[in-house]
Amino acid sequence: MSGRHEKERGVNVQVLLRCRPFSEEELRNNAPQVVKCNEFQREVAVSQNIAGKQFDRVFTFDKVFGPSAQQKDLYEQAVVPIVNEVLEGFNCTIFAYGQTGTGKTYTMEGECKRAKSGPTGGLPADAGVIPRAVQQIFDTLEGQNAEYSVKVTFLELYNEEITDLLAPEEISKVVLEEKQKKQLPLMEDGKGGVLVRGLEEEIVASASEIFTLLERGSAKRRTAETLLNKQSSRSHSLFTITIHIKEATPEGEELIKCGKLNLVDLAGSENISRSGARDGRAREAGEINKSLLTLGRVITALVEHLGHIPYRDSKLTRLLRDSLGGRTKTCIIATVSPAVHCLEETLSTLDYAHRAK
Ligand code: ADP
Ligand code: MG
Repeated sequence: MSGRHEKERGVNVQVLLRCRPFSEEELRNNAPQVVKCNEFQREVAVSQNIAGKQFDRVFTFDKVFGPSAQQKDLYEQAVVPIVNEVLEGFNCTIFAYGQTGTGKTYTMEGECKRAKSGPTGGLPADAGVIPRAVQQIFDTLEGQNAEYSVKVTFLELYNEEITDLLAPEEISKVVLEEKQKKQLPLMEDGKGGVLVRGLEEEIVASASEIFTLLERGSAKRRTAETLLNKQSSRSHSLFTITIHIKEATPEGEELIKCGKLNLVDLAGSENISRSGARDGRAREAGEINKSLLTLGRVITALVEHLGHIPYRDSKLTRLLRDSLGGRTKTCIIATVSPAVHCLEETLSTLDYAHRAK
């Protein structure tokens, strides 16, 4: 352990807020804007009308990105330093948290189809955090004189069950149901982390390959949704990039650095508040709450330096155990809509995100 590691004690959780632009439909309906972002002051103001009176609630975050912020802006201001940590051999995690329809997937993945037909070499403007991180990783590694390998995994967590989004076999209802029965099991790896047995690990040789993988994963997710009647807003997806770098020290010794970046597109946060013991979905809602709620508790415990961190209470926090707390960096990107019809969920997202600070 180097001296640098020793100095970086304490918890490193950064909370960002991103407010998406109005959708075409909201614009057509002249939806009133209740969320105002002040990027310079890092503040978000929400106007509420209570008993005919106008109230503003103001929240402060580590960074605020308003409706006109581009993918590139968010990436350069918030993610570049995190990926640099990963390239130094640390484990880091970025979450997208928010109500369904507020831009979690747009932020993490962006518009992948358009990405593929983008100009050769450069990334299209709509590319999200995942392709940009992969690009930054390859740009850095290719400019260094070191051996390296880059591997990715992509999985979905639905109802506390894990599905491999990169597994190569054809998907049919039978295959999927069979898979649901024998879920990929989680095992301790003896180094403080966990392994998902049987999870496909894809070796990536260049940044451009990532779009094919994302497309394959998303297509698989969509098919599984349809065939098994899943609701996409209820699943978490976890894209993990693992980098091994073999370097020679000036003394001629060999040094292996291993860093891991987890990119998590969480289930819609409305699943927490409206868990609904209604219809037969109580168990499912409960299980989704389990990962989202446990994540909230784990982050609170880390931020408040509590002795016991309840990692073991959900699959998501078990999967991320070696990448949350300690010498890792965590970034939560909370996403909200500017429109009045989302007000209640917006406030609950802001409260949740603010508690994580
Ligand atoms: P979520 O994953 O949270 O359910 P999506 O990422 O699917 O939400 O976003 C919902 C819609 O809003 C999509 O059509 C997406 O392209 C659009 N959108 C979200 N955020 C932005 C943004 N910052 N800029 C432009 N369009 C956005
Ligand atoms: Mg989504």
